[in-house]
Amino acid sequence: MDIADIGLIGLGTMGSNLALNIAENGHRIAVFNRTPSRTHHFVETAAALRDRIVPCYSITDLAAEIRPPRPIIVMVQAGVAVDEQIALLQPALSANDIIIDAGNANFHDTVRRFSELSGTGLTFIGMGVSGGEEGARHGPSIMVGGTRESYARVESVLTAISAKYKGEPCCAWLGEGGAGHFVKTIHNGIEYADMQMIAEIYGVLRDGLGLEPKAIGEVFETWNEGRLNSFLIEITGKILTVHDPETGRPVVDLILDRAGQKGTGRWSVIEAQTLGIPATAIEAAVAARVISGMKSERVAAEKAYGGPERMTADGMIVPALELALFAGKIAAYAQGFAVMDGASKEFGWNLPLATIAKIWRAGCIIRSQFLDTIAAAFSETATAPNLLMAPAFVEMMKEAHPALRAVVSRAADAGLPMPALSSALAYFDGYRQGRGTSNLIQAQRDFFGAHGFERIDAEGAHHGPWGSAA
Ligand code: NAP
Repeated sequence: MDIADIGLIGLGTMGSNLALNIAENGHRIAVFNRTPSRTHHFVETAAALRDRIVPCYSITDLAAEIRPPRPIIVMVQAGVAVDEQIALLQPALSANDIIIDAGNANFHDTVRRFSELSGTGLTFIGMGVSGGEEGARHGPSIMVGGTRESYARVESVLTAISAKYKGEPCCAWLGEGGAGHFVKTIHNGIEYADMQMIAEIYGVLRDGLGLEPKAIGEVFETWNEGRLNSFLIEITGKILTVHDPETGRPVVDLILDRAGQKGTGRWSVIEAQTLGIPATAIEAAVAARVISGMKSERVAAEKAYGGPERMTADGMIVPALELALFAGKIAAYAQGFAVMDGASKEFGWNLPLATIAKIWRAGCIIRSQFLDTIAAAFSETATAPNLLMAPAFVEMMKEAHPALRAVVSRAADAGLPMPALSSALAYFDGYRQGRGTSNLIQAQRDFFGAHGFERIDAEGAHHGPWGSAA
């Protein structure tokens, strides 16, 4: 049997599909999984690609089956499992072999792993992969962190298996160390905000206007033809039209309203807070998932306070919802990109924001035509401090923010929760207010803590004449 070009550990949802994708692209791949039955099943079901797959039942065998220097993708559950696999791999590998952690690692872990592997002769890459099962199988978006030289060694296989947007691979080297995993984390944070804002608009259509899932699905399908065109809007339209074969009811009506999360949304928020960059729409989306988990408390609270009320339907509301969602999306992406810009400066990564938008245009969960506009904005205006100040976005937001305002206000009147959309609006309003209200906060801080303040009419630090009022 010929020797393999590459190896992969972890044949779960992502790993098995990534392995098939690699094999389909002409590479011979050696695979290993902790639980041997999964490896066996994987090979048995690999059909025509079976001949390019080398099943291995120990890490030592895996290493022996790959041509040195060996690139080995680790696609296991993030966290301690990755450390365990690296520890098992180390004695079986030799100098210049490359370990690629392709799971959703916390970038701090990635930074630590780079440090632990430095001096061992092994090369490490921290790589974000987005696109779920389908993306992994037919072309994900790939965000690579590590040295530029190590990326050059695996670039051809990674670009071959990645999604393509008009022929351009959705795969790029983004920077040293944890850059790839950081960008993947923020990708997921934006995904949380995108999904939450879609769910909030669904809430208006369902609870505010009383539409049935099929009718709501048709609204989303129409929107997918316009400025909101994206994978998430497309699948939302499809989901809403699917019926349960047993009960005949719309499946979406049978699903418990409690959303799960695995950590990347929370990490996005933590990193944004640590960097001091507001990411309020993402924060609101994470908090909304937490509130969704408080099912019994919510049911009790609805009994105590009453729930949302119906809105009066008028011809304007559906077009306004589309524009409101678009405005919210602009603010959420502006926040996500601002966090990446802040991290880039903090960690010296020099993250290529236009390239990041480009490699998200296909393959990943937040793929959309909107990202093409973002990529163009960052290419043309590398110096814009925030996406909201890129000329194309100023025009779009001028058109869209009145609708966001109207929708948030009508939802508030009806008692319909809009945590992400209202946070996006408040962020926008705060960002565009030349004279804010923090003069009062500074006065309060100085009053109780002598923290001092700057004056608008004089240089230096000042204190207020609070004595008489104290
Ligand atoms: P999965 O289907 O649950 O599979 C998990 C894999 O990890 C299995 O191969 C499992 O092996 C292995 N594993 C778990 N604990 C292990 C341990 N202690 N030692 C060795 N192997 C261990 O997970 P997945 O969805 O493929 O996700 C894999 C990674 O990709 C995660 O980091 C995830 O966050 C990331 N990711 C997932 C998606 C997605 O849409 N699912 C998208 C992007 C990124 P056994 O068979 O022995 O249990």
